[in-house]
Amino acid sequence: MKATPIVEFVRDIYKTDDFIPLHVPTFNGNEKAYVMQTIESTFVSSVGKFVDDFERKIEAYTGSAKAVATVNGTAALHAALYMAGVQRDDLVITQALTFVATCNALHHMGAEPIFVDVSPISLGLCPKAVEAYLCEYAEKTETGCVHKGSGQRIKAVVPMHTFGHPVELDELNIVCRQWNITLVEDAAESLGSFYKGKHTGTIGDFGALSFNGNKIITTGGGGMVLCQTAEFGARTKHVTTTAKVPHPYEFFHDEPGFNYRMPNLNAALGCAQMEALENYLIQKRQLAGLYEGFFSGSDFKFVTEPGYARSNYWLNAVICPDKQSREEVLSVTNNSGVMTRPIWQLMHRLPMFKNAMRGDLSCSEFVEAHLINLPSTPVVLNTSQG
Ligand SMILES: *Cc1c(COP(=O)(O)O)cnc(C)c1O
Repeated sequence: MKATPIVEFVRDIYKTDDFIPLHVPTFNGNEKAYVMQTIESTFVSSVGKFVDDFERKIEAYTGSAKAVATVNGTAALHAALYMAGVQRDDLVITQALTFVATCNALHHMGAEPIFVDVSPISLGLCPKAVEAYLCEYAEKTETGCVHKGSGQRIKAVVPMHTFGHPVELDELNIVCRQWNITLVEDAAESLGSFYKGKHTGTIGDFGALSFNGNKIITTGGGGMVLCQTAEFGARTKHVTTTAKVPHPYEFFHDEPGFNYRMPNLNAALGCAQMEALENYLIQKRQLAGLYEGFFSGSDFKFVTEPGYARSNYWLNAVICPDKQSREEVLSVTNNSGVMTRPIWQLMHRLPMFKNAMRGDLSCSEFVEAHLINLPSTPVVLNTSQG
């Protein structure tokens, strides 16, 4: 298959001769009305009805015991790792195939990543690879799981549900329990994705969502920590709200807190976007179905949800047969005003993580060299196309 038919196919879907971006938000519902309400009420900052409403909506949708809204997804990850007990000099196992935010969050806590390979099915952290790494390099001690070479504690495992496709959470959970390691899900890309009927981000001890402008729903900038229990939820809210002890006028803070609360202005957008989520999910599934049909029978392999999961198909992706065809598709599509993008460069290639410990990364390296993301903005499709 050549690159030009891809351009024609995408143009046919979006029915435009203009530039086609990778993913842009759509505001066709109550967004304006809710945002205006926050301005009229003067409650534009971190206290307000929409913040509470948005948290309750996310709890109802995901089945999380307690959801705590934050300023962005990176902050949600930072708070989740803090709640998980990650401390300076701890090690955190994660994937090299991720967006840099996953690693920045743990880096700024003084922890260090260990990069382990992804599964070719989910493109997310592979439980077998995590187990193999631990068996070879770690030992269980009274203080927890320790890296034999460095003596550092391995405190958390952070899988990321790449492009919305859930990782094998049951298997990861078992490995984490066996080794006494906390499981924190980077579910920034997977709102609307379910693992065996359970929402991603609710199976690990903590989960983090993102509502950045390019995600499936947006609050401008925003995130959410999903907590397993009401107690953890209350503590998460406390530490993300400067750890201020409630009092009508006294300022007393009982630990070093974060100012990570989501403003009401942003939450208003989130409430309206949640009303549209189900519709986006339907449209994205249809769009992915069209791409799958288009690539079937070719030497390009469209990335589909794992058999155990229902994915949100946040960002469509295709594996090219070789590096040359990847380069060709990237240049022809982008030169024709149809945006496509290679996957992130692996984390250990970035200067700040180049010395990080790592296991075998052959699957991550293959995906890095072959994968391209395709335009994925939800669109009303003409069914005759399908
Ligand atoms: C978007 C994203 C985040 C969080 O990003 P923010 O822009 O801080 O909301 C974290 N991890 C992954 C994998 C992401 O894609």
